[in-house]
Amino acid sequence: MIRKVLIANRGEIALRIMRCCRDLDIHTVAVYSQADRDLKHVRLADEAVCIGPAPSAKSYLNVPALIAAAEITGADSIHPGYGFLSENADFAERVESSGFTFIGPTAQVIRLMGDKVSAIAQMKAAGVPCVPGSDGPLDDNDERNLRLGEQIGYPVIIKAAGGGGGRGMRVVHSADALIESIALTRAEADAVFGNPVVYMEKFLERPRHIEVQVLADTHGNAIHLAERDCSMQRRHQKVVEEAPAPGITEAMRADIGRRCTDACKRLGYRGAGTFEFLYQDGQFYFIEMNTRVQVEHPVTEMVTGVDIIRQQIEIASGLALRYKQEDIKVRGHAFECRINAEDPKTFMPSPGRIGHYHAPGGLGVRMDTHIYSGYSVPPHYDSMIGKLIVSGNSRERAAARMRGALSEIHIDGIRTNIALQQRIFDNPDFNEGGTDIHYLEKMLAATKE
Ligand code: ADP
Repeated sequence: MIRKVLIANRGEIALRIMRCCRDLDIHTVAVYSQADRDLKHVRLADEAVCIGPAPSAKSYLNVPALIAAAEITGADSIHPGYGFLSENADFAERVESSGFTFIGPTAQVIRLMGDKVSAIAQMKAAGVPCVPGSDGPLDDNDERNLRLGEQIGYPVIIKAAGGGGGRGMRVVHSADALIESIALTRAEADAVFGNPVVYMEKFLERPRHIEVQVLADTHGNAIHLAERDCSMQRRHQKVVEEAPAPGITEAMRADIGRRCTDACKRLGYRGAGTFEFLYQDGQFYFIEMNTRVQVEHPVTEMVTGVDIIRQQIEIASGLALRYKQEDIKVRGHAFECRINAEDPKTFMPSPGRIGHYHAPGGLGVRMDTHIYSGYSVPPHYDSMIGKLIVSGNSRERAAARMRGALSEIHIDGIRTNIALQQRIFDNPDFNEGGTDIHYLEKMLAATKE
């Protein structure tokens, strides 16, 4: 069993991992940049090591510094959290070749899923439904690409095989713009991701984003923990998430879930993972797999009662899954609001010192955050400062509870997106359930000025 975990991350997820380790009597090593000395988990962890200056490239992405910190402290394993190095196959390889356990899948699987073209090929072979598309990289043959565009039918989307974080894609509405768009996306993909490979997919016009959480152990077992709906997005970034997804029946869940677990077995997948789908007209279309824990994992924990971080640690320790598929039941409903340090209207980041912070509370209310009164949000990292998660017996009850919890939070000194979250939870269409991925941007555009 793992005894000492180095947490290669910061903020709320580092705190979440640290709390889980404490539950399991596992020692923790926090690592931090010079800008992050005051992080809550740094103060609470058994040991803490400064790994470099504020910029992520010199600290949280600094592989030699992380490995050295693990060596110095005698950690036996490294949890990458999400973001930073969590989906970096070279890092996973380095961790394991240095003699530590990487709490996540093998480097080989991370690499395979990190390339969207190879991920789609794997999924097709496993019987997971995919978006109609080029089924492989686009080449420089303009004629062939134009023919492909006609076959798939406009609008299409050109996507970078190495893309991530909502970047490296371009929608094309007609043949006139296709060739130029391919060239532009390719150049951008090369510059940003160091990989010029692009592919083409049908652009779905009003899909929802629905994703399936899976767990797989090293003994050939794989289960799914049902699905989440993450359709409330702005610029491809999730704003609100919920579990289960409105309107998904038990039969649909069982079918798509089984396809995902079959794919896990085929891939030799290990750990927690997420299959992301677009969902339209009753059909699921795979878009990518995330080979790590996700920001929104708590909504699944709230409705299934499964501690996902704990499962990651147990799987990495070589234990067999403690749950069988039939043990997993979805009870009630849960929502998560991402709380960002940003202006609710302009979305400009708003770092700075928090004066007072009052947390919401009560039955079914969970606030995963590293902030506290007097904490200064540094300008160097993601603007997400916490996640408010609530659950209730039904979607309506959970939404009502979220409205109450949002009105209770008090964070002064910086601007936050709480007002935007309140607008979403006051919106009749959202409350009805099943709004698509474009809804939030349309809502924002309609109320500008
Ligand atoms: P990333 O790795 O950057 O998150 P994804 O492939 O997961 O990229 O896509 C991110 C978002 O882009 C999706 O949630 C969706 O909003 C949009 N998107 C991607 N592919 C399509 C598609 N074929 N049709 C419509 N929207 C798409």
